[in-house]
Amino acid sequence: MMQVELKQIKKSYNQKTEVIKGIDVKIEPGEFFVLVGPSGCGKSTLLRLIAGLEKITSGDLLIGEQYGNDLEPSKRNLSMVFQNYALYPHLSVEENIMFGLHVKKISKEEQKERCYQVAEMLGIVHYLKRKPKELSGGQRQRVALARAIVTHAPICLMDEPLSNLDAKLRTKMRSEIRQLQKKLGITMIYVTHDQTEAMTMADRMMILNEGEVQQLGKPLDLYNNP
Ligand code: ADP
Ligand code: ADP
Repeated sequence: MMQVELKQIKKSYNQKTEVIKGIDVKIEPGEFFVLVGPSGCGKSTLLRLIAGLEKITSGDLLIGEQYGNDLEPSKRNLSMVFQNYALYPHLSVEENIMFGLHVKKISKEEQKERCYQVAEMLGIVHYLKRKPKELSGGQRQRVALARAIVTHAPICLMDEPLSNLDAKLRTKMRSEIRQLQKKLGITMIYVTHDQTEAMTMADRMMILNEGEVQQLGKPLDLYNNP
């Protein structure tokens, strides 16, 4: 299990307005940490800074024991799941899931074994030979999850992964993601604009407003002391 620490993290785009204004937080190993707040408050930006998809303007990022500011995304021990699933349409489910492993030069045999293992965990074994377009929204979402966890990365970043699903399926996937995360001991950093989703999933949540921390704590503590 791995921690992620942010020390006075700031971000400005094009030397203009600061969109992240000095965030301090230590995300504990195995914690389900939720970033929540209105559209435009900086959630995605913060996630992209942690992922290494954007450069930090100032402050320090620690990933596990490593100094993270200048680490390549592929060296950050993390996997990602996005809102639009980002599956490759021309590849089968199986090939999509194994794609991240292919890049890591893991043997074909182990790729297949790991793929089958996560597919079983997520109930998508029957769909391994299909193409993404032949799947329902919920099934595609599970493929995206499978592709993230198959890497065995200790940290997972998710950006609004359930926003394309209807209410009923969203509720179901919330609990599936939580169970999987606890079972595997993954440190989760999860972005949503949905308060209910944040409350039901988070060990701790950080409410952002215009790039600043408005509140930080356990859902019940925040709920009781708004
Ligand atoms: P959220 O994920 O909470 O909706 P974002 O992190 O996407 O918020 O955006 C935070 C702020 O940063 C917004 O004002 C947005 O317009 C701005 N922003 C995001 N990405 C860029 C970019 N690539 N260039 C300039 N401004 C950006
Ligand atoms: P599984 O059958 O393996 O649980 P699904 O997630 O597809 O896989 O099914 C869960 C429920 O959600 C089913 O009742 C299904 O009809 C419904 N469902 C699946 N995908 C969608 C979607 N994109 N929009 C609305 N409902 C969906």
